[in-house]
Amino acid sequence: MALKIFNTLTRRLETFIPGGVPKERIEDYPPVTIYSCGPTVYSYAHIGNFRTFVFNDFLRRYLKFRGFKVNHAMNITDVDDKTIAGALKEGITLREYTDKYTHIFFQDLKTLNIEPVEHNPRATESIDAMIDIIAHLDKKGLIYKKDGSIYFSIAKFHRYGRLSNVTSMDMKAGARYDADEYSKEDVRDFALWKAPKDNEPYWDTPFGKGRPGWHIECSAMVRKIFGTTIDIHTGGVDLIFPHHENEIAQSEAAYDEPFVRYWIHVEHLLVEGSKMSKSLGNFFTLRDLLDKGYSPRTIRYLLLTAHYRKQLNFTFDGLNQAAQALLRIDNLIARLNDIKHDAPVNNQVADRCTAFVTAFTETVDDDLNIAGGIGVFFDFVHDINTMIDAGALGRPDAAIVMDTLEKIDTVFGFIFFPEVTPINKEEIEALIEERNKARKEKNFARADEIRKLLLDKGIIIQDTREGTRWIVKS
Ligand code: AMP
Ligand code: ZN
Repeated sequence: MALKIFNTLTRRLETFIPGGVPKERIEDYPPVTIYSCGPTVYSYAHIGNFRTFVFNDFLRRYLKFRGFKVNHAMNITDVDDKTIAGALKEGITLREYTDKYTHIFFQDLKTLNIEPVEHNPRATESIDAMIDIIAHLDKKGLIYKKDGSIYFSIAKFHRYGRLSNVTSMDMKAGARYDADEYSKEDVRDFALWKAPKDNEPYWDTPFGKGRPGWHIECSAMVRKIFGTTIDIHTGGVDLIFPHHENEIAQSEAAYDEPFVRYWIHVEHLLVEGSKMSKSLGNFFTLRDLLDKGYSPRTIRYLLLTAHYRKQLNFTFDGLNQAAQALLRIDNLIARLNDIKHDAPVNNQVADRCTAFVTAFTETVDDDLNIAGGIGVFFDFVHDINTMIDAGALGRPDAAIVMDTLEKIDTVFGFIFFPEVTPINKEEIEALIEERNKARKEKNFARADEIRKLLLDKGIIIQDTREGTRWIVKS
C-alpha cells in the first residue's frame, strides 16, 4: 500500500515519494518538506481560509500517522497593499499592525487544534532571500526595471503555464493579473520588486529602495528554509494562477532546478454557491461562529469532513450535523468509560480495531480521502456500539478501543479535543488585579500561581513601569 496524491502539476494521481527516490521502508525517507502559503495578516482570517489551514494540518498529521517525518513551513505575509493601508489608517508601524493579526491568527489555529509547524517565516524577515533570487534572475537577463519597479519577463520562461494551463499566450492584453497599479512592458509580467510610494515602508537593496511583490515572498522563504526542491506545496485553488505559476517561474529560472514535486490545492469553502471571501462580504470569522455558540471542535470537524478536492458548502445545518456526529463519538467514549468489569481479552474486538485501522489507511491513502476515512470510522463506531450492546467488551477490550481512538485522533484531532479556554477580558483583568493585590501583601506564592494560571490560558503578563500588561501567547 502506498500513499497516492493528486498532483496539480501533472494532473495525475501519483505515488508519493518524498525526495524523489523510492525507499524500501517509510522510515528511511528524509523528512517530507512542505510549504503552505499562509495568511496575509491584515484582518481576521475567515473560515474559508481555515478550511485550507485545517487541510494543511490534516496532511501533516496523516503523513506522520503513516510513519513519515515532516518538516513544514507556513509563512506569514506581512507586507502588501492591505497591511500597509491598515497600518497607515491606524497610525502604527507595519510591524505593530501585522503583529496584532499574527497573534490573533495563531490563537485561532490553536483554538482549532491545528498543530504548530516547524517554521513560520515572515516575509519581511526574508528580504535577503528575495534579493538573491532577483540577483540570479538579473544575471540571466530575465528581468527589467521600469519606474523604479522590477518585473519578471514571463515570455522568457518557456515552461510558464505548466501548473495552471494558462500559457503566457492565453493571457489577454489589457487584462489585469496583478492587483497593483504599476506600469510594465507587458501586461503579463509581474512585479518582483515594487518602487516605494509615499508613506510606504521600504527596504534598501542593491537595486534600489522598495518592497517585495507578493509572489517572490513565497519563493524566497522556500529557498531560505529548504535550500532546494521541496516535496509538497499547498494552498487554496485560487492560488494556482497567478501566484503559484509565478513562484515556479521565478524559482526555477533563478536556480535551474525543480521547485516543487507535488502541488496540492484545496477547493473552496462556499456560501450559497460562491467562494467565501472578504471581498464578497459573505464570510464568517472563527470568532463569529464561536460567538454564535458553536464549538471549535464542531468547526474543525465540519471543515475536515469533505474531500479537499471537492467544494464544501458552508451551512448552519452542516454545523449542526457536525455537532450530532461528535455526540455519537462522545457517547461511545462514555460507554467505554462505563465498562468496569474485568474479562479475558475478546479477540473479536482487537481484530475489529486492527481491521478498522487498515481500512482507514487504505481509504485515506487514496488521495487523502478523509471523507471516506470518516465513513470507515463511523462504521467502526457502529460495530463497537453493537458489541457493547451484546456485552462483548470487558475492561481490557475497552482499553484497546480507546487506544485505537487515540491513534486515529492523531489524524482527526477532533475526538479528544483539548479544552480551550475562551479568553475573557474581564476574567483576565480581575485575575491581574488580584495578583497585584497579592504582591502588595507580599503573598508571592499566590501572585505566581495567578501568573501560571494565566499562562495556561495562553496569556502572558508583563510588569512595566506603566503597570501590568497582558498579551496573548502565539
Ligand atoms: P489569504 O490570506 O487570502 O492569502 O488566504 C489564505 C489561504 O486561504 C490561501 O491558501 C487561500 O487559497 C485560502 N482560501 C481563501 N479563501 C478560501 C475559501 N473560501 N475556501 C478555502 N480556502 C480559501
Ligand atoms: Zn504563497
